[in-house]
Amino acid sequence: MKDILPDQSARWQRLEQTFRDIVSRYGYGEVRTPLLEATELFVREIGEDTDVVAKEMYSFERHDDKLTVRPEGTAGAARAYVQHNVQAVEPVSRWYYLGPMFRAERPAKGRYRQFHQAGCEIYGDPGPGCDAEMIAMCSEVVRALGVADFVIHVNSIGGGATRARYREALCAYFEPHKDALGEDSRRRLDTNPLRILDSKDPKDRAIAAGAPSVVDVLAPEDAAHFAGLRRILDELRVPYLVDPKLVRGLDYYTRTLFELKIVSGELGAQDALLGGGRYDEMIGHLGGKKPVPAIGFAMGIERVLEVTAGDELGPGPACYFAPLSEAAHGKALGAARDLRRAGLWCEADCRGLSLKAMLRRANSMRASFAAIIGDDELASGEATLKDLGGHGQERVTLAGLAQAVAERVRGRGTAG
Ligand code: AMP
Repeated sequence: MKDILPDQSARWQRLEQTFRDIVSRYGYGEVRTPLLEATELFVREIGEDTDVVAKEMYSFERHDDKLTVRPEGTAGAARAYVQHNVQAVEPVSRWYYLGPMFRAERPAKGRYRQFHQAGCEIYGDPGPGCDAEMIAMCSEVVRALGVADFVIHVNSIGGGATRARYREALCAYFEPHKDALGEDSRRRLDTNPLRILDSKDPKDRAIAAGAPSVVDVLAPEDAAHFAGLRRILDELRVPYLVDPKLVRGLDYYTRTLFELKIVSGELGAQDALLGGGRYDEMIGHLGGKKPVPAIGFAMGIERVLEVTAGDELGPGPACYFAPLSEAAHGKALGAARDLRRAGLWCEADCRGLSLKAMLRRANSMRASFAAIIGDDELASGEATLKDLGGHGQERVTLAGLAQAVAERVRGRGTAG
């Protein structure tokens, strides 16, 4: 779990703003659900035998409630959708969320126990046009965030009938390899063989590499849905890779699955920036009045920030006010207040430093101007306005100081 200090949070805010701007153009509205949900919600929807539920949830009991700090956002949003009977008021809903998620994972590069996701959900549209649009939007989002080098993996694991058939095919394949599998995978052979495909154990992975592909057992209607998705992605010119081994670690998915991975290797094994898929059965499970098809994705904010890390220095303050004596403090603070009212960022330094120390500080903050108010200036009701970009200095009246700074900064179109 990490602290995010003010010098880092500016990047977070820019990322969040870009995400909000893009998704709101697609009609998504923000949902904010509690960080705590009933443990049962995650156990039922994510699946008892997944790593998230079996090993990673922060769960506790208080009074008579069994509660879990949310490990992901989809189940809570779906719970809210059903609880507020949203399907009765609108046929299609598009929701987004931003916020912390908690999983007690083994720490690794790009993997944290409190991490943050930005995610979207669409309820009420069975796709595949909806799926294609969401995948295209994901690509637009990460591009806008400065990620260039990525591949979108897509797959379909079909509906209930396909998954039952696939489970049988996987059991038949893994059974003869049973003794070579890790302990978790051996158990999952009976409970949930699909999960063996996303085992992180290298021995399991070697065996899983030869497993049958879900594409071979897709029911005709699932195959048509998947073909529709690929056709529309082609038409939208969104590059993608069909990846029959993509199963993702949560049980609630049906049909479309996708993951956006970076290819540059900065994140090592944790190369997925975002992942998502369709979950057409969840709303019905949760007691919705009728089944509602749904699809969603979640993007890992830390991972995006890691792969886009650069030394982007934001602009500094418009002005650094440097009063040289206590008598000038009120004038400096007053002019700073006026400049802030005019919408610009500035600082007034009343610590009583020398002129030299103050100019050093102004430069290190990358201020555009320094306004020096010494005894001489006070006596004539003026300030010395120094252009820290190296364009000289001039005297301006104290009464017009804030306005003079605002005009010069705005005329230049930088800082503030
Ligand atoms: P998931 O909810 O597991 O489908 O994950 C969706 C995205 O969230 C992943 O592609 C990652 O970018 C991010 N993510 C998941 N788990 C973690 C974690 N423990 N630490 C950091 N990011 C994570």
